Amino acid sequence: MTLNEFDQKMWATLIEPDTKMHISKDMLHNGLMTWGRDEIKTVGFGVSENLALYDLAIANNCDVIVVHHGISLPPTTLDRLTFNRLATLIKNDISLWSAHYTLDAHSVLGNNAQILKLIGATPTERTTWEEAKYGAPWGWVGTFDTPTTLNAILAITADHFSPKTVTYNFGPQEISKVAVISGAGGPSNQDILAMKEAGIDLYITGEVREWHQEMAREAGMNIIAGGHWHTETFGVKALQQEVNNWGLDTVWLDVQNPL
Ligand SMILES: [Zn+2]
Repeated sequence: MTLNEFDQKMWATLIEPDTKMHISKDMLHNGLMTWGRDEIKTVGFGVSENLALYDLAIANNCDVIVVHHGISLPPTTLDRLTFNRLATLIKNDISLWSAHYTLDAHSVLGNNAQILKLIGATPTERTTWEEAKYGAPWGWVGTFDTPTTLNAILAITADHFSPKTVTYNFGPQEISKVAVISGAGGPSNQDILAMKEAGIDLYITGEVREWHQEMAREAGMNIIAGGHWHTETFGVKALQQEVNNWGLDTVWLDVQNPL
């Protein structure tokens, strides 16, 4: 497959009619960031672009690397760290394809939809409360046919979430409705109140900050913060499965991060 064909297939897979207009508002890039060799045989997948990931990709003869967090380019001059990363890709003739918003919001392959699938909930609607802040819906709300408990969900997520997972057990004991925004989805007061209003029993995200513990207690909300990196392995792994079906070789580039 050529790089151009690969690029077109990626877009065809990731664009959805109801979120297409939001992609340009993303603070990180979606699409090709560097252009390497034209013939694509092996595609590497990882959460964040960094030198350790690039070294793994080079060792595995990857022609393209697909990441959730692409290069965060400085506004004017290139700093040395960014330059070193770009130079490594260019020297090794490797393309970088970044899928940020497209891979959080996607209704099937996205981080949030995939986490709902893992815990046995059915995705029902996109989240809405973070739209005021970020100008777009990033997350998904899901429901359980039969109400479950926080412990039952934690038993499922234990093998997939960070060893440093933070749990706040301040909400209802029976959980029927759950919202998921992977990564840096720590809620504001307004967000958590909007979740209560929407009947959410549990909020799953990647990272919380110091103030979220008492915020959750005062709002009466259950929260699982499963790690920024861990909650964002889901989308790239689902995309890897998809790309496997295109007849390309794929490899998971495992640069673990407990945060
Ligand atoms: Zn992220």
